[in-house]
Amino acid sequence: SIPAAVTSALASAARFGALIKGGAALEQLREIKKLAFDKTGTLTEGKPRVTRVVSVHEQEDQILSLASAIEMGSSHPLATAIIDETKSRSLTFSEATDIRVLTGRGVEGTVAGRTIKIVAPRYIDDKDLGEHKTTIESLESEGNTVVVVKDEENVLGLIGLADTLREDAIKAIRKLKSIGVESVMLTGDNRRAAAAIAGKLGIDYKAELLPEDKVKAVQAIQAQNKGAVAMVGDGINDAPALKTAELGIAMGRGSDVALETADAALTHERLIELPHMIQLSQNTARITR
Ligand code: ADP
Ligand code: MG
Repeated sequence: SIPAAVTSALASAARFGALIKGGAALEQLREIKKLAFDKTGTLTEGKPRVTRVVSVHEQEDQILSLASAIEMGSSHPLATAIIDETKSRSLTFSEATDIRVLTGRGVEGTVAGRTIKIVAPRYIDDKDLGEHKTTIESLESEGNTVVVVKDEENVLGLIGLADTLREDAIKAIRKLKSIGVESVMLTGDNRRAAAAIAGKLGIDYKAELLPEDKVKAVQAIQAQNKGAVAMVGDGINDAPALKTAELGIAMGRGSDVALETADAALTHERLIELPHMIQLSQNTARITR
């Protein structure tokens, strides 16, 4: 039978916004020495905005319209941001066909007979980016994510997007550190933006990771770490890493896949509940021993 102290700990965690899926997860929480965070939607709000549109072979409006047609097939926060910007400029866009989501990379499809692809600049040949490479690098260094919109032949344009750090991220990371838990950021985003954001938080990071690279990164941390490793994420791309970590923690408004895979969830998406739930598990251990 479940000790009353465990039941009561799970109930009080649920009250402050931490859903812990059972006694085993509560046990694991106590052993956590390292927390790996996804960036977009986890450390940041996951509501990026378009900050720049750079015309290359098409005009700004056309870049946004073509991109939005394709992004309609993606549920990624970047897709929502691009579509919102297009609508706010009162632009229309047609329906795309054959949309394929390239998880952790981008999205592609056909609009008005053209094959349009939207991907991170690292998947584009330097010679196709030409003089625009420096624009990309400076936008990224300021913390922007840049996506390249291209057709079969040309780079049509660039879209820069930026997200906001969650209001309690710095405080949560500081608190975690004070209770002996180190944080690291694992992201699919570019390394310059990752460095800018990790710098604000004062933590280490690994960038440009595909979903399977996030798994390898968690395994590498597990190999050098004495305690248990927890992974916090919100996306489909995080699910394999959530499963690999001793404890997977999902954000409450994250994807269903992340929520199902995880051992715990932050129902109100408050990062400060992470140190709270670890402390709660430590206090419960004292009672049940
Ligand atoms: P994160 O780890 O930050 O949550 P993802 O793994 O979801 O990021 O995505 C990694 C990168 O792949 C993004 O920074 C972007 O460059 C590209 N990408 C992913 N999905 C899309 C999309 N729908 N449209 C454009 N680019 C995308
Ligand atoms: Mg994410």
